[in-house]
Formats: sequence, structure tokens, C-alpha cells
Amino acid sequence: MRIVLLGAPGAGKGTIAKLLNAHDGSVQISTGDILRGAVKAGSEMGKKAKGYMERGELVPDSLIMEIMEARLQEPDASKGFILDGFPRTIPQAQDLKKLLDKLSIKLDVVIDIEVPKDVILDRLTTRRTCSNADCQEIYNVKSKPPSPEGKCLKCGSPTVQRADETTEAITQRLETYNEKTAPLIDFYKKEGFLKTVSSMNSDEIVQEIIRSVTKK
Ligand code: AMP
Repeated sequence: MRIVLLGAPGAGKGTIAKLLNAHDGSVQISTGDILRGAVKAGSEMGKKAKGYMERGELVPDSLIMEIMEARLQEPDASKGFILDGFPRTIPQAQDLKKLLDKLSIKLDVVIDIEVPKDVILDRLTTRRTCSNADCQEIYNVKSKPPSPEGKCLKCGSPTVQRADETTEAITQRLETYNEKTAPLIDFYKKEGFLKTVSSMNSDEIVQEIIRSVTKK
């Protein structure tokens, strides 16, 4: 499958991407995870991205396109990919279209995951993430807690609340989403790729996505 997942921060894109990967061997490509790994490693890319990320702002399009151009050509992407958190702006969507044309790759569908704002706020403030850049497993203190000591159940590293998951940063990220990313819904509607899902249940959403791709 070659899919773009749209949806506000906290809509469940990461969870759904991982379930789809398990279904068909495609790979999740999350620009947020790649950037967090770069920040942790202290690379040049990480140094450029850190401030924007902590403020809940978008990293410049040019940096994101550099990452994606390289990532989509890695061998594992040939089995299919789920783009999680990219594209995030109209220029990124236009550049992605050009890049896919250049690589002769066709998208199957763009999924817009609709979730009410109060659910998003609750999910994000209760979210914890494994601090190991190679793991980054996501927990939720209510619905999927880490160990009683706050350790990751997969790799044993401490879980943390991300710097961009404070109430101020979340409010900023949701504003950024409405202003910069929500216009992509219309962009992909016009391109004829858009499918909207609004269930709160990840398994149901995944089944709906699989049905919509296999119907094509
Ligand atoms: P995420 O985990 O997808 O919410 O991403 C975390 C942060 O990384 C965002 O708030 C942005 O600062 C940055 N980021 C991730 N993906 C992109 C993108 N496609 N364009 C610009 N900034 C991004």
C-alpha cells in the first residue's frame, strides 16, 4: 500500500500506520520520528529542526523534502509506505507529487482521520513516548500505560512526555494544523485521492482503509 495519512496531531496516525505495516509489510515513514531521532543524535538536521519542533511550529519545507527524497528511495520503501505526518503543507504536497512522478510511484489513497478536538487534547496530554530514538514506542497513561516505573515495555528505556506535548505547544500545533495542514484535505479531494474516516477505533479504521485500497 502507498498511503498518506492526514489528521491532526493525536488523531492516531502512528498507531494506524503500524497496524497497516503489520498487515502488508509496508513501512511507516514518520517525518516527526525521523526529526526526533536527528535531534536526539545532535546531527546538523536535528540542530536545524529542534527550535521549530519545541515551539510546535513546522520545520521548513526544504528540510523536510530533503529527508523525504532520500527516504522514499531506500529499499524498504519499495514494499509500500504509509506516510505519517507528511505532507503537512500545500508546497510539500506539490513537491511530493513531483517526487512521486519522478520515481514513477502512484499513491493508492489519502486518508483523513477526523477526531473531535477534546479527544485530541486528552490523548496528547496523557501520551508518553519511549525516550530511545530507535524505539519511540507510544504509551498513554490511561489506556496503554508503560511499566509502573514509567519504563518502556519493549526496550526498558524511560518513557517521557515530549517537549511539544505541553498544553501550550499542543495548542500551537493544533493551530498550525488548522492553518497549514487542513487545506490539504481540499487539495487531495481535487486530486481524487481523499477518503475520510471518523471512527475512534483504530482496528475499524484499518479495516476500512484496507477495504478502500483493495476495492481499487
Ligand atoms: P509529529 O510527531 O508528526 O507531530 O511531528 C512533530 C514535529 O515535527 C511537528 O510539530 C513539526 O515541528 C515537525 N514536523 C514533522 N513532520 C513535519 C513536516 N512534514 N513538515 C514540517 N514539520 C514537520
